Amino acid sequence: MESKLEKIKRLKKEKNIIVLAHYYVDGEIQKVADYIGDSFYLSKVGKNLKEKKIVFCGVSFMGESAKILSPEKIVLMPEMKANCPMANMVDLNEIKEMRKKYEDLAVVCYINSTSETKALVDVCVTSSNAETIIKSLPNKNIYFIPDKNLGTYLSKKILDKNFIFNKGYCVVHASVKKEQVLYMKNKYPTAKFLAHPECEYEILKLADYIGSTSGIIDFAVNSPYEEFIVGTESGILYKLKEMAPNKKFYLAKEDFSCEDMKKITVDKLLNVLENEDLEIKVSDEIIKKASLSLKKMLELAQTNKFKEEYDLIVVGTGVGGCYSVLNSNEDKKILMITKAKLEESDSYLAQGGICVLKDSNDFESFFEDTMKAGHYKNNEESVKEMITNSPKIIEELVSYGVDFEKRNEEFKYTKEGGHSKTRILYHKDITGEEITKKLLENVKKRKNTLILEDTTLMDIISKDNICYGAILKDKNGEIHRVYSKDVILACGGIGGNFENSTNYPHLTGDGVKISEKNNIKLKNLDYIQVHPTTLYSEKKGRRFLISESTRGEGAVLYNKNIDRFVDELMPRDYVTKEILAQMEGDNSKHIWLDMRPIKKRGINLEKRFPNILKRCREEGYDPNKELIPVVPAQHYFMGGIEVDLNSKTSMENLYAVGETSCNGVHGANRLASNSLLETLVFSKNAIKDIENKTLIRKGK
Ligand SMILES: Cc1cc2nc3c(=O)[nH]c(=O)nc-3n(C[C@H](O)[C@H](O)[C@H](O)COP(=O)(O)OP(=O)(O)OC[C@H]3O[C@@H](n4cnc5c(N)ncnc54)[C@H](O)[C@@H]3O)c2cc1C
Repeated sequence: MESKLEKIKRLKKEKNIIVLAHYYVDGEIQKVADYIGDSFYLSKVGKNLKEKKIVFCGVSFMGESAKILSPEKIVLMPEMKANCPMANMVDLNEIKEMRKKYEDLAVVCYINSTSETKALVDVCVTSSNAETIIKSLPNKNIYFIPDKNLGTYLSKKILDKNFIFNKGYCVVHASVKKEQVLYMKNKYPTAKFLAHPECEYEILKLADYIGSTSGIIDFAVNSPYEEFIVGTESGILYKLKEMAPNKKFYLAKEDFSCEDMKKITVDKLLNVLENEDLEIKVSDEIIKKASLSLKKMLELAQTNKFKEEYDLIVVGTGVGGCYSVLNSNEDKKILMITKAKLEESDSYLAQGGICVLKDSNDFESFFEDTMKAGHYKNNEESVKEMITNSPKIIEELVSYGVDFEKRNEEFKYTKEGGHSKTRILYHKDITGEEITKKLLENVKKRKNTLILEDTTLMDIISKDNICYGAILKDKNGEIHRVYSKDVILACGGIGGNFENSTNYPHLTGDGVKISEKNNIKLKNLDYIQVHPTTLYSEKKGRRFLISESTRGEGAVLYNKNIDRFVDELMPRDYVTKEILAQMEGDNSKHIWLDMRPIKKRGINLEKRFPNILKRCREEGYDPNKELIPVVPAQHYFMGGIEVDLNSKTSMENLYAVGETSCNGVHGANRLASNSLLETLVFSKNAIKDIENKTLIRKGK
């Protein structure tokens, strides 16, 4: 004779009906179901099925959700009285009151709720997707209904939001008592305790793993552990034993069972398949309204690279960003972004070179030159830190493949304005490109780092002066909230805000503006450096820098009468002031630079400054044969986001490095070729601080 289960299988086939079963229904029913899962999984399955009829073996809200998502389908229930008590623990008027009381409020509703409730809320969530969805919401205030326990658990994980709770709870999960769990832990000391987040928070604190029903199954099956105390409804044991037959499972309490789920029996399933009479009905109006919150759930729960949680977000792909990534441990999950293309950073544009302490005898003079250029407004500790660490930084750059000019295997050093000695390493007149290119090549090899171009930092996620991540705009203009343990701002200078600047136009001081908005301390915002010599042009756009090293190698400046009027190797601000005064006196739009004296010193201009020559010729001037017109332009920002020697800002978990930051190293005026060095030294310090913090977090 045909058994009941065989009959169920036959009817399903004959009538083309799909049976969906929740993990909490009886194992016998799970045996004959087409799909078994938690409410999120089943709601997605129901929507995507091509079959027109579904039997939903679960409580009523699950059937209603399936109907709301697929109104054209017939959704049948084996037992109409199988209800979730928690679903009815919502006062609908309270939702309206909360909306009046709180600005910037999102009403977030656990899927275990009635269709009337779903019709009034902004978005639904399940225990498996709640964290992802709430984190992606822009709202500060979250009214979480109906489950206060799940809400409490989420509020401990999402620290930047303000949670308001309802009084609802799951009668099954909330019935587990601390003593019962402690008893079981004592009885099975090696067993891992797996808890559902509907349990009370004091129970969750005892758990080794907290997750949705499917999360618990995944953990138990895939973790190396052998024994588990299961903190959820007994129906889960069917799947656990099927998927991990050799592991041991004990319920956290004996009678861990949901009365309503157990109302669904094999007989009732058979009955509904035979008669097709117990159909879920939801009014068109409720379907229309509730489907919005359910569809929003499906949309927001879709995972992508922006929904991942990172250990570190690095904003910027210049030397500051690159060196931060390269100094991080490879087990860190890093997101690195730039608002433009990878190579479009000021680091790439650096021409002259990078300073180094070439021998310890130069310390005093290097220190004095930096302080003097900075008008003694510098932070002495920062200057010492930079100089002391410079030989190590150069050694590391060479290990990354950076090629500095050499003679007989020894480094060649050059000089720029404000330097009393030669101490600058260089690579032709494209030192920045050489360094940044090699660093980027190494960053790209890092499997732990996801690099996204055309992705702009719009704001940071923060609460109570703690940073929790970044708000990003992707290349399609979509906004994402991305969470991260730490954030490093390496977003460069401010030149994009000036009509005449040597900087890339997209460098508009975003890090500084965002910091100001978030009450993060800033410093020396009026310390802006103007470079004395950029190629004069009638055309609009970025000003091309004529490196100070041309003057270091012998080039001279002339006024309109071709007379020298300034000591060309004085610090930048002094030379700039003299040039501007001269231009005003001459009523001229530029002064002249003569690079021919360099040739007279026996230096081949084509080899030493190929990039500058190429660009001058594009503008119609040949520095080998004639004078070239030059004019001052905004170049560098000495002020910025205030940081300490570890590049830490005044906000927890937020760091700033490079030109966007201000550790005081440059004082009121930067000494030439100190900025690449500064950026590298203090990026490395930021990472050291982050790694130390990680060790503390891990309790090591
Ligand atoms: C023409 C020129 C020549 C120079 N020559 C020298 C030299 O010879 N020696 C020297 O030491 N220094 C030199 N400098 C200065 C030096 O290059 C820079 O100060 C230094 O490289 C800054 O590095 P950084 O990593 O802080 O910023 P940058 O290299 O400018 O990188 C900034 C990065 O942040 C990204 N970014 C900005 N805002 C956002 C946002 N909102 N969202 C996402 N990404 C964002 C940018 O796209 C970019 O990737 C020169 C500068 C210029 C302009």
